[in-house]
Amino acid sequence: MNFSLQDYLEELRPLINVDCGTLTKEGLEAVASQMAAKYEAMGGWDIKVVDCGIAGPGLEIRNKPEAEHIDVMLIGHMDTVFPVGTAAARPMTFDDEKAYGPGVADMKSGLLNIVYTMRNLDKALLDKMSICVCMNPDEEIGSLHSQEWMRGVALKAKHVLVIEAARADGSLVKARKGMARYKMTFKGKAAHAGNDPQNGRSAISEMAHWILEVNKLTNFESGTTLNAGVVKGGAGANIVPDHAELIVDVRFWDNDEYDHVHNTLSNMTPFVDGVSCELVREAHKPSMVPSEKTEELMGLVEEAGKEVDINITWQAVGGGSDANLTAVLGVPTLDGFGPAGAMMHGPDEYMVLNTIEPRIRLLMRVLEKIAAK
Ligand SMILES: [Zn+2]
Repeated sequence: MNFSLQDYLEELRPLINVDCGTLTKEGLEAVASQMAAKYEAMGGWDIKVVDCGIAGPGLEIRNKPEAEHIDVMLIGHMDTVFPVGTAAARPMTFDDEKAYGPGVADMKSGLLNIVYTMRNLDKALLDKMSICVCMNPDEEIGSLHSQEWMRGVALKAKHVLVIEAARADGSLVKARKGMARYKMTFKGKAAHAGNDPQNGRSAISEMAHWILEVNKLTNFESGTTLNAGVVKGGAGANIVPDHAELIVDVRFWDNDEYDHVHNTLSNMTPFVDGVSCELVREAHKPSMVPSEKTEELMGLVEEAGKEVDINITWQAVGGGSDANLTAVLGVPTLDGFGPAGAMMHGPDEYMVLNTIEPRIRLLMRVLEKIAAK
């Protein structure tokens, strides 16, 4: 295989040194055009730019755009969680072991590993397979604007591989918790806290009741947990607050148990007379739990690992990804095929250099074995 670490890192650098947090449309367009150009240069790929509304462009790249079925769908996201200014404040750097920078592991290196895989795969093998690479611009906010499109593609696919980073110890990901996020807006009635408190209706008191109810729904044993993570409200200590906002994050293994949480929250009524609450579900990803077909695919990946001399281990993790979206459709889905990395979503995010090339070889071998099935 053709691989130079130096070249790889130089190709990675412009993907890192651009602000492309979710909804930073300009930066995401820049990343999308860089990625599209790589496939364009390879030749043999049909590149479709998908309009994901306010989230910016997605890319759907196929070698057989006319084929009804897709043997393998590869998924990566182009957005990061970092605000504008991050790329200038801490552009990509590297030392002997690791590379650093916003999105270096989550997941620009994953996107580039897919490109290297396609460049190095035997042309005859590519001719035999129908491959679709999907890159979305909004994974970090729950793929709100791309999930309909991605689901539509996944329904045509026999296998889905998500190229998020491998865990720090190199493990791939076979299961991910589901997640949901709710925003609750409370409206009460303002009043002077000194002259007229009895005529006020406190939105913050109402919110406090909700937080306690939300906490009651947590079950650490089964892994259904709710976190009242953000609160806002009030305009001054001397005013009965007429406005409050609460954002709650839910994580779960059991999709039925989550349904119960969802119904409970949706049916809750105000505790304080004269206060209203509006509840909006801003994001939802079902949990990804391996099916029998997924276990078959895991076996294939383990065999591929043996053949390229990589010890395959698996983890079940709490964080969601687009793997959750496709797994729930019944399409065997595995995740973590990118280079290993850790400390995602923070300033210490890193990617392990000596895992780049082995992970490309692993992905190539997995595709070869799927083609031979
Ligand atoms: Zn990611």
